[in-house]
Amino acid sequence: MAEIRIAIIGFGKIAHDQHVPAIAANAAFKLVAAVSPRAAPSVDVPVFQDHGEMLRQIRPDAVAICTPPGPRHAIARDCLDLGVHVLLEKPPGVTLGEVMDLAKLCEPRRVSLFTTWHAQYNEGVGEAARRVAEEGLHSLRIDWFENVEKWHPGQQWIWQPGGFGVFDAGINALSIATLLSPSVLLLRKARMHLHQGGQQPIAARLTMESSGATGPIEAMLDWRHKGEERWTIEVTTRAGTRLVLSEGGAVLRIGDGHPRRGAGSEYPALYARFEELVRTQESHIDVEPLRLTADAYMLAERLAAD
Ligand code: NAP
Repeated sequence: MAEIRIAIIGFGKIAHDQHVPAIAANAAFKLVAAVSPRAAPSVDVPVFQDHGEMLRQIRPDAVAICTPPGPRHAIARDCLDLGVHVLLEKPPGVTLGEVMDLAKLCEPRRVSLFTTWHAQYNEGVGEAARRVAEEGLHSLRIDWFENVEKWHPGQQWIWQPGGFGVFDAGINALSIATLLSPSVLLLRKARMHLHQGGQQPIAARLTMESSGATGPIEAMLDWRHKGEERWTIEVTTRAGTRLVLSEGGAVLRIGDGHPRRGAGSEYPALYARFEELVRTQESHIDVEPLRLTADAYMLAERLAAD
């Protein structure tokens, strides 16, 4: 396969902002179709209302599934069944079982499944991970504060069962933490503040530990924040080096040095990895951030909406 003919299924904010430019910038891929049930996105490829019809008519080599998490498993199953390689936006499913089911489906086939965690592909995150691997992890603290009305306007699905609430954003931070942690992150205590309607949290606090870390590991996630957004992870290594990842991992400050911004290669790096997987017909399946989120839903004390 010279060129990988790819379709985007679910054409909302992230498809438009990141997937389309990353595909356009990568000569290995060619966008051949889009699926959008209601809106008509302005793209120069055929647009279908239903993924089944798109698969029948276009039969792409690969798909990027960028729907909300709810319908993702059924769509991915239909694609993998036909031997179409699948990139899943985060989170890879609504439950761990869904991801296990997809992984099993891939095993006997020469078809790739890629459960992406885009935040892990920031250059600063890679550099922080190398530093932690060399020096060991002492402590880690996540502050993920944003205004939900600004970042998720009109997205009602985030408040529905399976919509993840504040974990829709917070799982990005957890994906960085699971990458940095030298051993499994164990959730010890969790508290969730529920959004009105009571289905999903609008804020959460997690207390974790890891046998590979000597100090505290904590996460504060809050969508009620009205000031400037703060997506920060502060790490102290066992050698005492302070690493501060900010802007979701796009910027890294080491010790007293100047904060350094990566080249913004998060989604391009993710598509470079997807190309490798498709060419080698391998899968890359990482459920750790979803597992930690599921643990929070099992363990958390729930507090009513303010
Ligand atoms: P969004 O703007 O609500 O877009 C989701 C799109 O999926 C909508 O266009 C929706 O179409 C479509 N869709 C829903 N059900 C579908 C189905 N069965 N088949 C095909 N398309 C379907 O949401 P988003 O912000 O792009 O987020 C999508 C996913 O990407 C989420 O899991 C999110 O966590 C992840 N993500 C988002 C961001 C971000 O900054 N927004 C960043 C990274 C990752 P209709 O509106 O017509 O129903």
